Amino acid sequence: MTASKGYAATSAQSPLAPFSFERREPLATDIVVDILYCGVCHSDLHMARNEWGQAVYPMVPGHEIVGRVTAVGSSVTRFKVGDIAAIGVIVDSCRACSPCNSGQEHYCEKGATLTYAAPDRVDGSITMGGYSSNYVVDQRFAHTVPSNLDLAGVAPLLCAGITTYSPLRHWKVGPGMKVGIVGLGGLGHMGLKFAHSFGAHVVQLTTSLKKKEDALRLGASEVLLSTDADAMARHARSFDFILDTASAPHDLDPYLSLLKQDGTLALVGLPEKPPAVSVFSLITKRLSIAGSMIGGMPETQEMLDYCGKHNITADVEVIPVHQINEAFERMLRQDVKYRFVLDMKTLG
Ligand code: NAP
Ligand code: ZN
Ligand code: ZN
Repeated sequence: MTASKGYAATSAQSPLAPFSFERREPLATDIVVDILYCGVCHSDLHMARNEWGQAVYPMVPGHEIVGRVTAVGSSVTRFKVGDIAAIGVIVDSCRACSPCNSGQEHYCEKGATLTYAAPDRVDGSITMGGYSSNYVVDQRFAHTVPSNLDLAGVAPLLCAGITTYSPLRHWKVGPGMKVGIVGLGGLGHMGLKFAHSFGAHVVQLTTSLKKKEDALRLGASEVLLSTDADAMARHARSFDFILDTASAPHDLDPYLSLLKQDGTLALVGLPEKPPAVSVFSLITKRLSIAGSMIGGMPETQEMLDYCGKHNITADVEVIPVHQINEAFERMLRQDVKYRFVLDMKTLG
């Protein structure tokens, strides 16, 4: 077994606290990664507090992982000891179904194995995430990292990055399109950077107008306060596509009113309650509401390589691990610029 230590939640109410555990013995196709940085995703908070009803305790959250390879199994070809490797939201899948065979492991028909709080397909143990000292993962579910990028800023690409890159690519966001990003948090700021980089006219929608200057700096052409009905009305029927990253329950109709005929509102945010939506808002412009989850292994690597080429990383606040509970509270107050990243050296 591989000894590991990290920070775990032991119930929906308990703060995260130091925790020791063991990971599986590495297989021939596995790599062992010493974790350098792990991003703090709002999903970690939803999961740790059991807001989606999927929690398993003790739970070590964390699925935005960057680290250094310290051991490789005998069949590993993609990594050698000393390389930097990155791990995201899933760490295994059935590897045999149609989505798996087409590089869409995240949509595995048997269910992909999540990086934490899921049964490991190898030994049945419960996976433990990246708020920890190391990870054991099959090379297929790890990524290489462009050498020019700052590693703390790379960590959030593994969830916030791919979760926004994938739908923006799927709906072919590019020049000539007016695109909205709802929420300027971890996902939102990456969506803003990518949509701008793909050449779209990007409007950042926010409930916090104090983020306006940052949004403009990050690539927005305009910033729109979503609670200002008059300002929203001035943009009615003008958007081609909107990506909604909001983490708290909210009404979709104000955003649907912004779309042109045949426009799409793609949801990636996962509030604990389902949204209410007026069908009239949809039928009167033949609108689509869609959803998207992270991305497959090839597209995640494509996204990382794109970031290397265009020098894109997340804007991060690097914090010591023991500040994780305070970071959760600040995230709930929408006080994060724009992703907390745990410095795993501070685990001690
Ligand atoms: P985050 O950093 O906390 O950002 C969320 C942002 O949502 C806030 O900064 C805020 O932006 C906005 N917001 C909050 N309440 C709102 C409301 N009532 N109405 C409108 N906007 C509101 O969270 P994150 O890490 O980016 O995650 C966002 C959501 O995506 C979470 O629910 C997470 O679980 C989910 N997620 C989904 C996937 C997937 O695969 N689909 C992957 C990762 C995460 P402003 O201050 O600008 O308004
Ligand atoms: Zn995430
Ligand atoms: Zn599968």
